[in-house]
Parts: sequence; C-alpha cells; structure tokens
Amino acid sequence: MSEKTIPYKIYLEENEMPKQWYNVRADMKKKPAPLLNSATLEPMTLEELSGVFCEELAKQELDDTTAYIDIPEEIREFYRMYRPAPLVRAYCLEKKLGTPAKIYYKFEGNNTSGSHKLNSAIAQAYYAKKQGLKGVTTETGAGQWGTALSMACSYFDLDCQVYMVKCSYEQKPFRREVMRTYGAHVTPSPSSTTEVGRKILAEHPGTTGSLGCAISEAVETAVNTEGYKYVLGSVLSQVLLHQTVIGLETKAALDKYDITPDIIIGCAGGGSNLGGLISPFVGEMLRGEKDYQVIAVEPASCPSLTRGTYAYDFCDTGMVCPLAKMYTLGCDFIPSANHAGGLRYHGMSSVLSELYDQGLIEARSVEQTEVFAAAEEFARVEGILPAPESSHAIKVALDEAKKCIETGEEKTIVFGLTGTGYFDMYAYEKFHDGAMSDYIPTDEELAKYREKLPKVER
Ligand SMILES: *Cc1c(COP(=O)(O)O)cnc(C)c1O
Repeated sequence: MSEKTIPYKIYLEENEMPKQWYNVRADMKKKPAPLLNSATLEPMTLEELSGVFCEELAKQELDDTTAYIDIPEEIREFYRMYRPAPLVRAYCLEKKLGTPAKIYYKFEGNNTSGSHKLNSAIAQAYYAKKQGLKGVTTETGAGQWGTALSMACSYFDLDCQVYMVKCSYEQKPFRREVMRTYGAHVTPSPSSTTEVGRKILAEHPGTTGSLGCAISEAVETAVNTEGYKYVLGSVLSQVLLHQTVIGLETKAALDKYDITPDIIIGCAGGGSNLGGLISPFVGEMLRGEKDYQVIAVEPASCPSLTRGTYAYDFCDTGMVCPLAKMYTLGCDFIPSANHAGGLRYHGMSSVLSELYDQGLIEARSVEQTEVFAAAEEFARVEGILPAPESSHAIKVALDEAKKCIETGEEKTIVFGLTGTGYFDMYAYEKFHDGAMSDYIPTDEELAKYREKLPKVER
C-alpha cells in the first residue's frame, strides 16, 4: 500500500471495537508468579482475593489460561462514548524531524478523565454493580485514576471513596473537583481516618504521601465497610487485561493498512497501559509468529524495571495487600516529587515483570527535564498537549526516530499516548521557568530499600 493512502487518523468503525479482551498470560509458557498470602506465603485463593476484590475481578486476576474473555455489552456501551480511539500517523512530527521513520501513536486522552484509565474503571465499576455492592474504595496518585473511577461509578450509581496522595491533593485541586463533580468522596492520604494512615503519620510526620500509603488506606476502608470492595487502577493482571482494548484496536487499525511495527513504546508506571498496548503483539511473539522491539519507559527517579529487583514484595506501604513477584524498588520507597505522578509506583505488573525477565521487552529510564522537552517538541507540531507520563513514551519515540535520520532506516514506530496534561500545568510551568530538577536515587539509597524486601523463596 502506498504511503499516501494512510490517513492522518486511522479510525475503526464502532462495530470493529473489540468484543473480547486478550489475556496474554494464556500464551506465556512460564506464567507470571502468583500473588501470595503474606501470612501463609501460599498462593492467594479465589476466596481470599474475593475478600478484597469483586468476585468476577478476582477470577480474572487468577485466570492464567483463558486467552479471550468477553467484554460485557454494558461495558461496550460505555466504551462507545469515547472509543474506538484513533491511531494517529504523526506526519507533522515526522516532517519536522526530517526522519524516514514512520511514527504512529494511539491516543487515549479523548475522554474527560484524560487518560486510558477509564478503560479499566468502567469494567471494575460494572462488576462491582453486578455483585450488588454499594460502593468501592481506591487510591489515586496524580488523580487520573480517581477521576476515571468517579466517572465510572457515577455511571453505574455506585459510591466512590478515593484516597488521594496528599501532595497531589494539594497540587491538583482541579482534579479533586472533577472527582467531586462526579460524586466521589476524596480524602488526602495519609489520613487519620484509617489505622494504617494514623500509623504512617506517626512514623513519618509531615509526609506528602505515596501511592503505597494510599493503597493501604483504601484497602483497610474496603475491608471494614459493609458492601464495599477495593479497586486498583494499575499493576494487577485484571487491569492489564481490560487495557488490552488499546492494543487490540491498535493492531486492528494497523492490520487495516498492512502496517507492521518495528518498535512499540509505552510509558510504564504500574504497567497497565503498556501491558494493554503490547499484549496482542507480545502474544504473537510468544507464539513464535512475529518479532517486535518493545520498550518500556520509566522515570529515572522511580526506575523499577531498570534498577529494581525481581522479587516478592508488598504492593503497598502498609503491607496489607498480598505479595506480588515483580520488579520492585521496595514497598516503602517513596520517589522524589517527580511530576509524572502516574509513574511513581515502586513496583511493576507481574505480567510485565515476567516478560521483561524473559527478555521479551526492554526498558529505559529517562529524566524529567528531557521528558518535558520532548513533550513540548511533540505538542508544537502534533497539537496535543500530552500528560507528563505519556511524554516518557514520546521521549523514546523521538530518540528512535532521530536514530533513523542517522541510519536512514525507515522503521515503523508505534507508541501509546496515554493522556492529556491539562492538569499538569504547574509541572509545565516549572519546566518553562527552568526550575525543574532531575532526581536520580543513588545505588546506596536503592540498596537500603532492597535489604528490606521480604525474604520469600519461591
Ligand atoms: C496512570 C497513568 C499512566 C501510568 O500507569 P500504567 O498503569 O503504567 O499505564 C500513564 N499515563 C497516564 C496518562 C496515566 O494516567
């Protein structure tokens, strides 16, 4: 197919939207390690997981064998409000760079929550409603997940209790108000409303919080409140599953024009957007059908894949969650005040961790000033104001496209543009004022947390 015939935006028809999510674990010969009960160190059973999570979601969490899982029609109805999401050919960026590379990005910022998180929020709210729950509790870092869940809960008429990392609560009052517009109750974390919050406050007075703390508080509240369950916006295999709608649409759009990517790039916080984007492609790799270069991009200030340890660790600071085997920096690692709030998690999805360990994906870490420089370079020609998290992927996409200028290779690059950055203007302001710094933890600091990892031999 000649170049000219590929449009700026490849849209799928509504009826081409995926009817099933794809569970990449089914095609993995060596499966991701199971979640463990932190007391017995035995794999979590469905019954144990159902104490915290909705039952259907607990089933999805444990399902390592079903390759395709039906997307309920109620969820597809909601998806239709903002999906299929476009796959954009970045013609303007290519021209500006003067690169022979062909650059595509999958844009997930086309909804009010401003990110891909809504794809899983609506699924989790649906299963909570179906189970007859009154409400759900959760944490939010930068606020995108809390916003997405608030929207999903209001749609299904569920109560939504959000523990928001304190520094974001203070830095991003508008995110908080969007959540309240959708009826959510938002509490800054750590708070004195939970036992674990009070404990963390006593041990670390003046702390500005972390995702790990907020998770502990949300779990405690769910477990102690009748009719409530806890939901999580990333890291878990169920979330990665829901996010495969991104990769399935991307693949369908590429297939329409016989395009085969060489490089697939995504930012990685807990791993859900990247996992969702790459799953169908990694599935082909696992089945020996195709080969792609897959790159996870993380902040240098929170480098779980590039500098973490592959080990069992707690998913939260309060150690109330099960143990997960993942690339981790240690559950009480609190990253410096990086502006990409959505990437400040100490661990990484077990699925992605296992794929990384098997050498199927690679990882790079980037510093935030270079990330914002890339964001600006992109925004000025492609029009979209990207989220700081998404801009990590942009940075590496630009690097790869610039390499092609030198080598003359016409590589096809696909990256995930996970969201928009309208609530991150303080961060952009810091960048423009030259007041942004890059903090990279030292080996000694990381070693301190590594020593504290739970000793689990499996
Ligand atoms: C939360 C978030 C991320 C990172 O989360 P993953 O689970 O790693 O995908 C990336 N981009 C945006 C815009 C986000 O809101």
